[in-house]
Formats: sequence, C-alpha cells, structure tokens
Amino acid sequence: MNSQQPIQRKVIDHIPVELDLEEFLRVLRVRRLKKKDVDLLLRRCRQLIEPKAVYAFVNVSRIEMDKVKLSSGDSLRSIILAEMLEEGQKIALYVVTIGGRLEKAIPRESEGSILKAWTLEKIGDYALGKASAHIRSHVEEVLGGAVSSFSPGSGTGKLFDIKQQKTIFKVLDPPRTVGVDLTRSHLMVPRKSVSGVFAATRWEYIACQFCPRERCESRRRPFSGEYYPLNCGQKASL
Ligand code: SF4
Repeated sequence: MNSQQPIQRKVIDHIPVELDLEEFLRVLRVRRLKKKDVDLLLRRCRQLIEPKAVYAFVNVSRIEMDKVKLSSGDSLRSIILAEMLEEGQKIALYVVTIGGRLEKAIPRESEGSILKAWTLEKIGDYALGKASAHIRSHVEEVLGGAVSSFSPGSGTGKLFDIKQQKTIFKVLDPPRTVGVDLTRSHLMVPRKSVSGVFAATRWEYIACQFCPRERCESRRRPFSGEYYPLNCGQKASL
C-alpha cells in the first residue's frame, strides 16, 4: 500500500515586514552611524526587500535511527530531529527569503563605505528575521503552540547536515515557488534566505546552545557543550 500523502505547498508572495528604526537600532547595538543615516538606509531597504516564503505541513511517519521519514515519502537525516520529533507529529518545512535585490544593491548603496555596507547587511538580516518570524507564528497558530526551528547546516552542522537542504528543496521546490536556488555546496541563493523545519518540541531547541563558535555576533544562547544524542547516537551517521 502506498501511504505517501500529496504535498500541499503554501506560497506567500508578500510577507508584511515592518522595518522599524528604533527596533533596528536596538538590534544593531552599534552607535557609530548617525540615526538619520540609518533611517535613510532603512528607507532604501524597504524598497529593495521582497519577503516571500514557501512552506508545507507534513507528518512524521517513522523514525529509524537518525532517519526521519515523512508522509510525503521523503526522509530527513538528522540526529537532533530524530531525537526531538515523535512519530505521527505534524511539522512544517519552510524556505523564507527577502529576495536578491538588496544584496545586489549593497555595493552601490553603500557608496564605498564599509560601515554602510555592513549596516545594509544587518538590515537584510533583520528583515529576514522578521519575515521568518511571521511564518513561524503562522505555523504556531496551526500547530497550536510554540515551535523550535531546525536549519540544515546551522551550528557545526553535525546535528543537521547542510546536505539535507536537498530534501527540503525537493519538497518545496523554492527555485520555482519563491526564486531561491541551491548551489552545489547546498548554500541558498539569494543569500538572505533561511530554510528548515518548524516543530513543536519538548524543550526549545536553539542551535547556538551546541555551537562552540567564538565571537559570533548572532549568538542567541550561551554554548552549553556538545550535544550527546540519547537514543540514536550509537549507530547514527554523523
Ligand atoms: S553561535 Fe552563531 S554560528 Fe553558532 S549557531 Fe548560533 S548563530 Fe549560528
């Protein structure tokens, strides 16, 4: 019997993203640029970002070692997903992007200033974070509670290998649905894109907890040591 279920992708072409000056200045935590200059850059970025997303809900049909089989017939290999998810659970695969216009415009808009170029990059990250939060909150409404986010390649990549992008891209077809391509090394183009899995979990997973990288300005939690899998670590293919 074929138990595969058809995938129903949802594409959002215009995610409402508000780029707020005061909020961004709090996020940026750098005081070397004048507020009015940041405001000008933000205004320009509002015209350049194109926040879009594609996502789909699937069920976890089976978990074997580090392999999470999905109701779509696809599988994700990940130590952390295999440990945190439950068979029968509904999860969402997603790709969110702000498009490529901002990153292409940075050399021109920064007018040779490294600080302006850096600020524009940060505005892109801020916009992408807000677009991603919008999709996350929608998924939370559907799933009925808070979710964790798992992105292939995040942290050291040992817990969820970047190669697993292939499965997410197979399910969601982002080149066609939102204009995001995958390079041979599994990086997304445009760069200002994020992908992964949203799922309700017993405790909130944040990759930074298990990432030893020093001096990361995006760190959200202190490093708490290497992650040691409880169930599937012995035979899983790291
Ligand atoms: S510490 Fe930095 S590199 Fe490591 S997972 Fe967090 S944001 Fe990513």
